[in-house]
Amino acid sequence: MKTIGLIGGMSWESSAVYYRLLNEAARARFGGLASADVLLHSLDFSAVVALQKAGRWDLAADMLAASAGKLQLAGADCVLICTNTMHLVADQVAATLSVPLIDIVAETGAAITASGRHRPLLLATRYTMEHGFYAKRMQETSGISPIVPNEEDRALVHRVIFDELCQGIVSQASREAMLAVVERGRMAGADCVILGCTEICLLLDPDALVLPGFCSTRIHADAAARFAFPDVVRQFHDKVAA
Ligand code: GLU
Repeated sequence: MKTIGLIGGMSWESSAVYYRLLNEAARARFGGLASADVLLHSLDFSAVVALQKAGRWDLAADMLAASAGKLQLAGADCVLICTNTMHLVADQVAATLSVPLIDIVAETGAAITASGRHRPLLLATRYTMEHGFYAKRMQETSGISPIVPNEEDRALVHRVIFDELCQGIVSQASREAMLAVVERGRMAGADCVILGCTEICLLLDPDALVLPGFCSTRIHADAAARFAFPDVVRQFHDKVAA
């Protein structure tokens, strides 16, 4: 089995979801007591957010590259940055690694393309919706240009992510407000929705929206499972045959 390295803590609420999804994938694939081979390096999110607010993406890149280096040294065969926002520095992190960095934006774009959809509404932090890195990366990897909510709705989504979901608060009022954002996206011509923040799945069920939902957390964890598990099958079969 290959070892999956997670740079987590951004926030830990979603890192816990990754851990559960990876282990559920291992159980679904192999059954019984099987679980995933995972290394997690969990950062202090308050330090990451301070750098985001200060626009010090250079220092954030250093912090994540150091984390990725620890995971690689500890034996990770791949690395995941468990947040969409911090893919803003994904290229800098990938450049320091000799193992693959599994890219949440590219994987999400590939999932949308495979479904035949092409005009997603992006729900995410302001950094992801407004900085431009995400749209550029998705355009380059999948040829897809996401649309974003209006200014008022972007402020709402960003606030719900940081003031609520990243702090473990899941509220019905915010769920209804987010569903209204999705409906306005549908009216504006979106044909699907990207849950482009790894905590949004704590609030919205991607399979119960007015548009098809693409959960970045689930898609990213699935990509890691596909990377990590084929070898397990081979090793297991080798052992049985030996
Ligand atoms: N987990 C969130 C994301 O996927 C937001 C937290 C962060 O700023 O990294 O973007």
